[in-house]
Amino acid sequence: MAHRAAGPVRGMEQVTQALGGRIAYGADYNPEQWPEEVWDEDVRLMREAGVNLVSVGIFSWALLEPEPGTYDFGWLDRVLDKLHAGGIAVDLATATASPPPWFLERHPEATLVDPIGNPRAFGARQAYCPSSVAYRDAATTLIAELVKRYDDHPAVVMWHVNNEYGCHNDHCFCDASAVAFRRWLQERYGAVERLNEAWATAFWSQRYTRWDQIGPPRQVSYGNFANPGQQLDWWRFCSDEIRNLYRVEAAAVRSHSAKPLTTNFMGFRKSLDYRSWTDVGDLVSNDHYLIAADEDRTPQLAMTADLTRSWAHGEPWLLMEHSTSAVNWQPRNIAKTTGEMRRNSFQHVARGADGALFFQWRASRGGAEKFHSAMVPHAGTESRLWRDVVRLGADLSAIAEVAGTRVEQASVAIVFDWESWWAATFDSHPSVDVDPMATARAWHKACWARNLGVDIVGVTDPLDGYDVVVLPAQYLLSDETVDRLTAFVEAGGTLVATYFTGIVDEHDHIRLGGYPGALSDLLGVRIEEFCPLPEGDEIPLTAYGSGAIWSERGRAVGADVVAAYATGDCAGDPAVTRRRVGKGTAWYVGTELAPDALDTLATQIFTTTKPVVGGLPEGVEAIRRVGEQGTYVFVINHTHEAVIVPVRGTDLLSGNEGGPHLVRAGQVAVIREDR
Ligand SMILES: [Zn+2]
Repeated sequence: MAHRAAGPVRGMEQVTQALGGRIAYGADYNPEQWPEEVWDEDVRLMREAGVNLVSVGIFSWALLEPEPGTYDFGWLDRVLDKLHAGGIAVDLATATASPPPWFLERHPEATLVDPIGNPRAFGARQAYCPSSVAYRDAATTLIAELVKRYDDHPAVVMWHVNNEYGCHNDHCFCDASAVAFRRWLQERYGAVERLNEAWATAFWSQRYTRWDQIGPPRQVSYGNFANPGQQLDWWRFCSDEIRNLYRVEAAAVRSHSAKPLTTNFMGFRKSLDYRSWTDVGDLVSNDHYLIAADEDRTPQLAMTADLTRSWAHGEPWLLMEHSTSAVNWQPRNIAKTTGEMRRNSFQHVARGADGALFFQWRASRGGAEKFHSAMVPHAGTESRLWRDVVRLGADLSAIAEVAGTRVEQASVAIVFDWESWWAATFDSHPSVDVDPMATARAWHKACWARNLGVDIVGVTDPLDGYDVVVLPAQYLLSDETVDRLTAFVEAGGTLVATYFTGIVDEHDHIRLGGYPGALSDLLGVRIEEFCPLPEGDEIPLTAYGSGAIWSERGRAVGADVVAAYATGDCAGDPAVTRRRVGKGTAWYVGTELAPDALDTLATQIFTTTKPVVGGLPEGVEAIRRVGEQGTYVFVINHTHEAVIVPVRGTDLLSGNEGGPHLVRAGQVAVIREDR
């Protein structure tokens, strides 16, 4: 029996050590899709590309356990031996992400059920109910066999538990899930009467008298609205339930191994509140894919990496998957432009990733993801993509000394809380156009464009060290959070809260006495009525420009009105306010500012906030990582123009010394600063 060696998020350091201090570079490797004669070529090409870490066996359950209790590890033995002989380390998967056909055949009760009550068929992946005892038993049995067999294998440096938990089975409405939901509710509320209070069941005659009357929010009658308290607790439960499954599988691994383990998160995955998961693994790893049609996909990547780093409490983390070029699951799968893959990888590493891995190593010939790009494309090694893969491997090797350093303290925190996101976007609300994610992205982009360091934090994370805290439509706030925000401002911080923030408490009950109830005093505004705008309408303001989506009827109570609504029924009412509080400032933004208006306001708010590197045009990112051995400025030029970067030091990629440095259009520099 082994014990756990790593702290909650220090496992990346162990992985880096196992890789000889290098940045991890590699991919999911699925040798089972290919005849064995291809494997030798795989290892040879991995070495050519500088690959040092591959994830093996993620979807191998059906091959490893072809019949229940019958195992075939021979092929995996040979794969791991070949990789080890080639100097390639392995992130070995528990292989539990997708149970084989025999599993549901034996355990039909583990079938995933949708909100209408329909069973979902086998034929893709993740075909199981996350509450299923049979699934947990089958998974942990396989894990025990696998980990006992391979823990001592010299190629294996870490464990990859399951894969993208809940990607296709995050909400299951079967009877077993209903039982688990009731158990979760009993733990949360203790007495049915407390649940009745939290769910406001006095409304619409929903008062429950026994736990067994309560179920998941299955589909209600047409045009009807489910109880929002029930919906909120259901989303909380579903995230917790899958986290519990992660705990069960992680414990099964740890019974036989002390090597670090992780599971790959999926960034801003709405159904999974990963911030409450991060104590399960030994390191945080994340998968990130660009939405090709998103014209702001570059800042969106940066925002996701800023989120991932905050899950890791600032420690290095691992980019487990991204793509070399197009994916297969969007309506139009656009290839990455020249240099985009390299810039994407460096964006992640700049923001704290100590590895850049892809899905997948070799592009598949068959199966649902055969058009997903890979490190070895269908065209083979005579291709631009392969040359870019080899170059990136060399680049990451050249910056190995960055591994283990931390991104310097950010000046801005954007609070983005999952419970609030869920509650803010349920049905029967003032406007379907309210989108906390869109508002958060707009504020993050304003910081990104100015090269301000940003963390995407949760409501319970410490706020020390930030100059500015932004609350983008954080609809649900607890009293405790309000107290901490108040203390932050009084101590000299700048708070920016937007409309639809602080409207309800943790039970999704309205805070009475004027909006935004929780923050009305701190912000010095009292809003009497929401006046959402018709779809697509804009409302002119007396300063900055115009707003959209939202306006409000109310007045300032101690705050200065810096912009009011200029026309319409709310004309003269406050749209943007500022209040001095203690040593700090609290801003309120009561509408969704148009991009130009937000830019003008951001310039005003961030006037004293220090950028990582000043004077760079929008689209040239600069991020600093700090270690005992030195400081490193990553410069990523996403523009079509060369830029002069006023930083002195040695570019680890080009070898150029001195400075300022010229970073050409589309290029990257990693400058070790002169002391
Ligand atoms: Zn279920």
